[in-house]
Amino acid sequence: GAPVRTHNLVKTFDAAAGNVVPAVDHVDLDLPAGSAVALTGPSGSGKSTLLHLIGAIEKADGGTITVGETEVTALPGGKLAAYRRTVGFVFQRYHLLPALTALDNVLTPVLPLKVDFDKQARARDLLAMVGLAGREHDVPSHLSGGQQQRVAIARALIHDPAVILADEPTGNLDTRTGEEIVDLLLALRAERGTTLLLATHDLTLAARCDTVVRLRDGQVIEVQQVAGDRSTA
Ligand code: ADP
Ligand code: ADP
Repeated sequence: GAPVRTHNLVKTFDAAAGNVVPAVDHVDLDLPAGSAVALTGPSGSGKSTLLHLIGAIEKADGGTITVGETEVTALPGGKLAAYRRTVGFVFQRYHLLPALTALDNVLTPVLPLKVDFDKQARARDLLAMVGLAGREHDVPSHLSGGQQQRVAIARALIHDPAVILADEPTGNLDTRTGEEIVDLLLALRAERGTTLLLATHDLTLAARCDTVVRLRDGQVIEVQQVAGDRSTA
């Protein structure tokens, strides 16, 4: 895992009628390597934008982000793709390719790349790790929502990322399945030491993490340490 730090991080969007919306408003975070951090707050509080900035999907307007030894906000364009491979993204709507099998979905991030590991073997191992051994050749429509999210989690792990960024990964799932997905993310973090950032408006799920960061209008209004990680209990 890698520590994640932000300092004075700012991102604004130009909204309708010329209003400038501070989606992320001077955010300072200091998250240790291997921590499990929930980002909570109402819709529009900046959770997604913060994850997009940390994952270098969107560009900050001000401040700094440091992940491990990398100052993300200072990376030249040519180094962004390599940086993004050190981060695993998990989305609310899975974003799987419907025509591809589970195995091929997990392989998509590495297909165009030369890598120093056996792609097929790693993809199979990851599917087994998320509980989908035997389902390698199923297309997403033959899998439940929870299983589709497991495929997406396996895909996020294909580069053995130092950080997992999960954006409302349970938002389309029933309560019990959502708990299983969060427990899987926490178990993977415990096994691999990956730093986990989980955006969720579900406070029960947030309490399973060891730190809860509450956002409102783009600002951090509270950082709370909780004892909640049941995956290591
Ligand atoms: P959350 O994930 O907590 O729901 P977001 O990060 O999605 O919050 O949004 C924070 C604020 O930034 C909201 O006011 C939202 O409308 C705005 N916002 C997010 N992305 C964009 C965008 N691409 N263009 C304009 N406004 C955006
Ligand atoms: P999901 O429901 O899949 O999480 P969202 O509705 O949160 O998707 O946002 C999808 C995308 O739209 C995000 O990349 C976000 O940055 C962008 N977005 C959010 N709010 C706005 C907005 N007000 N204007 C333009 N884009 C936005």
